[in-house]
Amino acid sequence: MAKVLCVLYPDPQTGYPPRYVRDAIPEIAVYDNGQKAPHPSGALGFKPGELVGCVSGELGLRPYLVHHGHELIVTSDKDGPDSAFERYLPEAEVVISQPFWPAYLSAERIAKAKNLKLALTAGVGSDHVDLKAAAQAGITVAEVTGSNSISVAEHVVMVILTLVRNYVPSHAFSAAGGWNIAECVERSYDIEGMHFGTIGAGRIGLAVLRRLKPFGLALHYTQRHRLAPEIERELALTWHPDAASLVRAVDIVNLQLPLYPSTEHFFNDAMFAKLKRGAYLINTARGQLVERDAVVRALQSGQIAGYAGDVWFPQPAPPDHPWRTMPFNGMTPHISGTTLSAQARYAAGTLEILQSFFGGAPIREEYLIVDGGNLAGTGRASYQLT
Ligand code: NAD
Repeated sequence: MAKVLCVLYPDPQTGYPPRYVRDAIPEIAVYDNGQKAPHPSGALGFKPGELVGCVSGELGLRPYLVHHGHELIVTSDKDGPDSAFERYLPEAEVVISQPFWPAYLSAERIAKAKNLKLALTAGVGSDHVDLKAAAQAGITVAEVTGSNSISVAEHVVMVILTLVRNYVPSHAFSAAGGWNIAECVERSYDIEGMHFGTIGAGRIGLAVLRRLKPFGLALHYTQRHRLAPEIERELALTWHPDAASLVRAVDIVNLQLPLYPSTEHFFNDAMFAKLKRGAYLINTARGQLVERDAVVRALQSGQIAGYAGDVWFPQPAPPDHPWRTMPFNGMTPHISGTTLSAQARYAAGTLEILQSFFGGAPIREEYLIVDGGNLAGTGRASYQLT
């Protein structure tokens, strides 16, 4: 019998379950890149479309775990030495956490987690785990790669249009009873003809490029591995050898690379200075990729015209975090990858990974970040330990 410690975001304050506005969600069996969507064996412990990412939803895992004699502990209390997470951590064999409400697994916490064998990210992005410490401790780190790529790509397209067209202030004028057309449009442009560039063109970055193509933008990218020539031709992509070259050339910059020690704060004052005046920066990758106060300075000086995304540090962000109130921001809490549609896929993928782990079968290669003491699978392709 194993102890499975699962950290999820709190239930809605209005009660659980919510009254769902739709009765069903589309079923996606195969992703754009040919990868099969999660396919655990047996019944799911939830109906796709239900809110399973919060504490009462339990990712629908209880029926499977209880049936196999395991103990499931679910909490949202994750920060500080007196948290439930730290209390149960020493006994846990499996820790499950979502990036939206990350249970930070620092080297200190890993040292206390003597029984831990699997750190499972219900979602995508495992930087809340100290990957080097996990590798040294022989812990496997896995995530549900691909499960919410399109959810995030759609959010990126949404916030690009939101910022460039000045949607949020215009909506506020309308809701307040106004008709302030001149004020609404004095910062409003079309994206057609603009240059867009993504730093990181993996599953999400490439999906964003594909979705922007019909809008008539010129598309640019940079990343560690160059895309196949047929994709570059299909999307008429301009490749840049590094981020500095890309940001000089475009009007809208998108961050879609993982966070690891050498990408932390790479978007700093020096990088902002290279942008065209009035560029827009979108970040749904990770908050720590950019220097918190450099963003505020760039918005206040007019070096950038807007900043949007859903990722912060720490999470949840404190009430006085400057990104909540800085000018021309289109921020939300970390939500883009946890739509009800995304939850159905990553909850099923979490079950699939648990079935492999407890059944002694290999975890799918694309789900692996760290395994056997080193980066593995997607981790090897996308992360670095330094
Ligand atoms: P991916 O692994 O498919 O793609 C990441 C790409 O980044 C890879 O192709 C890699 O080559 C490239 N890369 C790595 N280091 C780089 C560097 N220094 N410079 C340029 N490129 C570099 O990952 P993905 O599924 O596209 O997700 C990307 C990131 O988005 C995740 O790591 C995660 O942090 C974030 N994410 C956020 C949400 C959300 O809800 N906001 C959801 C999913 C993922």
